[in-house]
Amino acid sequence: MRVMIRNARYDDVAGPVEEILEAFPKAWKGASVLVKPNVLGPWTADAGVTTHPSVIGALVRSLRARGARVMVGDNPGLRGYAENERSFRACGLLAAADGAYVNIGRNPARVKINSTFVDEIAVSGEILDCDLLVSVPKFKTHALTMITGAVKNTYGYIVGTEKALLHSLAVTLRRFSEIVVDVYALRPPDLSIMDGVVCMDGNGPSGGRLLDAGKIIASDNAVSLDAVMAHMMGVRPESVPMLAVAHRRGLGEIDLAKIAVDGPLEAIPGFRMPRTFIGGLVGPFIHRFVFPFLRTTPRFNPDRCTRCKVCYEICPVKAISWDDGPVLDRRKCISCFCCMESCRFRAVELTGLIYKVRDRIAAKDAPGGPASPPAGNGT
Ligand code: SF4
Ligand code: SF4
Repeated sequence: MRVMIRNARYDDVAGPVEEILEAFPKAWKGASVLVKPNVLGPWTADAGVTTHPSVIGALVRSLRARGARVMVGDNPGLRGYAENERSFRACGLLAAADGAYVNIGRNPARVKINSTFVDEIAVSGEILDCDLLVSVPKFKTHALTMITGAVKNTYGYIVGTEKALLHSLAVTLRRFSEIVVDVYALRPPDLSIMDGVVCMDGNGPSGGRLLDAGKIIASDNAVSLDAVMAHMMGVRPESVPMLAVAHRRGLGEIDLAKIAVDGPLEAIPGFRMPRTFIGGLVGPFIHRFVFPFLRTTPRFNPDRCTRCKVCYEICPVKAISWDDGPVLDRRKCISCFCCMESCRFRAVELTGLIYKVRDRIAAKDAPGGPASPPAGNGT
């Protein structure tokens, strides 16, 4: 397993992208190639939530120069295909795709999946039919799964609202990690090129803090790539349930001693992980009946909330009711954080006894003060 790390800036990313394509040769000429960025929703590029347009622009040009027939597509967030083009336009990827954008949410196929939780799911036809798939994830944390990276980027194979439904079937982090890997195993990317020029720590994938890491990281094995990212975040790859599951199933190496790392591998100083995951590690019974008033759950900030109703519509277990604004039923909430992930106004904050204790410890330890200051409303 090989992982390549290169220094990069958004105004000078073409060189590293070229170097990566040379280092991981594929039969590009004449092939239909799907480039899959991480498009969480209609965020602007400077919000640091979505793959940066300069990376996608450089990749599209380099692949075309090799004779590939390029498509650029993703299934943003947890809503249907109607949100697709709006999201690509907002984050600058519609322009960066330079005519290669495809709304892959319009072409779902129901496929059998080897999973304990579900028999079949709706996946974009382009994911299944393309000759080569290049995943272009973002270097970010995730309040539920700890990391958002190359493996989690493949969860966007699923079309629309079924993503949220799987959260309700999983309930806990351990079970959800199994589902994420089930989806990844449907079609592991042929190459993953991670945008770590600006990365996100704290309560990602949309509410964290932006850091300049200045790195592009690539591998033809997404699991090993994520193991390197976890190391750079300062955590042991085997402590990330999603990576432990993928490794156990033989999908990739996560032992850094067994991965050939080409480039500067350094932990990012002061990188902060989300303070949410402890509650997710317990079993479903404890989660349901013991933890409701201890574990981390969302809280809606009325000063930021625009009453757009997205969280209310998206919650997979209907834990949010509406009374001139979102109202949470903590007993129903499964702490999947889909509402936080989907709120473009960063009005969904986190609370709960475990969260507050971890927050207080981390704030004391961190020289820079409390983590995760919102970086704007992303609109
Ligand atoms: S998604 Fe955010 S802004 Fe919209 S109703 Fe929910 S909390 Fe308010
Ligand atoms: S309220 Fe938010 S965190 Fe709780 S189950 Fe619904 S979407 Fe998930």
